[in-house]
Amino acid sequence: MKNKILIVGGAGYIGSHMAKMLANTNNEVIILDNLSTGFRHLAKYGELIVGDLADTHLLENLFNTHSFDGVIHFAANSLVGESMTNPAKYYRNNISGTLNLLDVMLRHKVKNLIFSSTAATFGEPEYSPIDENHPQKPINTYGTTKLMVEKILQDYADAYDFNSVCLRYFNACGADPEGELGECHDPETHLIPLILQAASGKREAITVFGRDYPTDDGTCIRDYIHINDLCSAHALALDSLINQQKSGALRYNLGNGAGFSVQQVLDVVQAVVAEDNCTVQVLSGERRAGDPAVLVADAQKAQKELGWQPIFNDLETIVRHAWAWEKQLRNLA
Ligand code: UDP
Repeated sequence: MKNKILIVGGAGYIGSHMAKMLANTNNEVIILDNLSTGFRHLAKYGELIVGDLADTHLLENLFNTHSFDGVIHFAANSLVGESMTNPAKYYRNNISGTLNLLDVMLRHKVKNLIFSSTAATFGEPEYSPIDENHPQKPINTYGTTKLMVEKILQDYADAYDFNSVCLRYFNACGADPEGELGECHDPETHLIPLILQAASGKREAITVFGRDYPTDDGTCIRDYIHINDLCSAHALALDSLINQQKSGALRYNLGNGAGFSVQQVLDVVQAVVAEDNCTVQVLSGERRAGDPAVLVADAQKAQKELGWQPIFNDLETIVRHAWAWEKQLRNLA
């Protein structure tokens, strides 16, 4: 059965890959994006409507025009540092924008929402790997806004006929295996694309933030998950609400369950780019504020309940896809 799905933030990194996956599996996709961090050229798998969640008239018109079976909500500001210096922006966009979306969904009886949440809702890990029972004590405003929406969605599920799945991502990375889509953040803050930019000549060097963590090689450990594996979890979550009629406010952590240190990531990337005779200049710097030493997901609940299985779960494949995209961006391919 063909479903009509609204992807809010569908011109961004994760949203654009999501649109492609849904459009290619017989869904009709409508994208709403204000293009503040997304790009028109990434929104190629669905009709793009340029607009903001603050615009309640636009939302009302959109829901009057289309009868949606479900909504996937990616639109948010997501820079941890900026969230600490400009919290007003984060509360306004991430909370009040979401409330506007929920209002229009309730009014139009669209009751299925997949919400993009984050490992940042957990804060400093109390144990590892992090499962869904881990306490949620965010240490930055970005994580706080995402946790607040998780709580709002729980209250809505309790009070209204409204179902949601919150997916907490660990480190999203990689690119479309067919090379059509990839990461285009500006400014870029994420480790893998930054290393690749140092390899492609877009930037001079990469700085390792801290080599004195209590890990084997002293650098931070993260759980890197391929963008298509993230998207397949969203597709399954949507299916569980729309077709299997699961209800309530469900939550799943999404990662591979395997941690890689910054140094290990550097080693893999350097080996991959060396095949193209590219090198990476590596500098060592201070720790970045707010970085826990280790963040690894326990994603067994998503595997058991959604039937999710990551398939691009080795770091080299992730890096190869991201490098293919970076080479295209810099005309090196
Ligand atoms: N990192 C780094 N240098 C950089 C950017 C990131 O050493 O220029 C480290 C960062 O401290 C963290 C890991 O790489 O341990 C992943 O950071 P990223 O910003 O990609 O994702 P996060 O874990 O913050 O969501």
